[in-house]
Amino acid sequence: MIEVISILGAGTMGHGIAQVAAMAGYQVYLYDIKEEFVTRGFSSIKSNLDKGVEKGKVTSEARDQALAKIKTTIDLSEAAKPANLVIEAVPELLELKRTIFAKLDAFSSPDSILATNTSSLNISEIAVATKRPQLVLGMHFFNPVHIMKLLEIVHTTETSQETIQTVLEVSRRLGKEPILVKDSPGFASSRLGITLGLEAMRMVEQEVASPADIDKAMELGYNHPMGPLKLTDLVGLDVRLNIADYLYSTLGSEVFRAPEILRQKVAEGKLGKKSGEGFYKW
Ligand code: NAD
Repeated sequence: MIEVISILGAGTMGHGIAQVAAMAGYQVYLYDIKEEFVTRGFSSIKSNLDKGVEKGKVTSEARDQALAKIKTTIDLSEAAKPANLVIEAVPELLELKRTIFAKLDAFSSPDSILATNTSSLNISEIAVATKRPQLVLGMHFFNPVHIMKLLEIVHTTETSQETIQTVLEVSRRLGKEPILVKDSPGFASSRLGITLGLEAMRMVEQEVASPADIDKAMELGYNHPMGPLKLTDLVGLDVRLNIADYLYSTLGSEVFRAPEILRQKVAEGKLGKKSGEGFYKW
């Protein structure tokens, strides 16, 4: 029975996960390495919930109850000890995640579940840092966490059925729609999403249509809320190039070979919305 969830990393994803967990009634610990980071994470949660109250989507009682459920800390053992489920959301660095999982293995109760929110790393390579691979899996949330419904539950060959079932129940209580995916490069979402994005870029290269018209084809013809090139601009061209190179090197299929136009734009610093230009001018 999961009652206490600890989130490691109070950044973009961590604060969002803490928010949905507290709103679902779990006791939450939000951990980061510096006081200013946990304070910033907690303020973001408060401001999100305040906006929810203004829009009439959240009652002020629900906001106050959720905020009262969150305890912030910069002491890893304080967060790890009482947790039945730990969700790690620190930067995407394998060695960092391994170090943290080894510490978690030492600090937390031996039957607590350890999850990572990695968007691309191999879950098994993180799980080996622990002596409990049957209790380790991926919980891949999407940004912004309080809005996006999808949750990829990524299991290794060693994750136990009981762990998967428990996490599926938690996911639903968090208001998410879980999908079950085998630990494999790009999981389900990135692997499929990137192919559409890369093919759209090849179509720009071959002057099949303009970026706006290619996007419109998917938006109006397939009811995608946003076309693949606009999405690439929002995610960042550099981020997408890294994913494409990683999937090409691990899966070997030509569909993941990054188009020249993508490499060139990244080299020119055209990274999408964050730099003012990608496939569109922002
Ligand atoms: P972020 O940079 O916004 O936040 C990371 C947080 O981790 C920061 O607050 C940082 O201070 C903290 N941190 C650094 N070292 C730490 C340590 N040793 N212990 C605890 N906290 C530490 O990053 P993010 O975008 O929230 O990404 C976190 C994870 O979620 C990554 O693995 C990323 O791949 C994954 N992810 C990100 C997105 C996204 O859209 N941003 C979506 C899905 C998954």
